[in-house]
Amino acid sequence: MKKIFFLLILLGIALPVLAADSPIVVLNVKRMIYHSPSCQWAYRCTKNCIKTTKQEAIEHGARPCKVCGG
Ligand SMILES: [Zn+2]
Repeated sequence: MKKIFFLLILLGIALPVLAADSPIVVLNVKRMIYHSPSCQWAYRCTKNCIKTTKQEAIEHGARPCKVCGG
């Protein structure tokens, strides 16, 4: 159990550092709309959503969410 906990902390630290140049967004790959991670729609979207950077989402032609602004 301790090892899993440690890994989760490590991932939590490593992922934002790797994407430090661009904020993390939740991208709906079906509708190609990206959300701020705190957006209510990001919470509700579990099936077609992936976490990526804002830059990458825009490069894939995604549009910002109208509710949270991306
Ligand atoms: Zn949103």
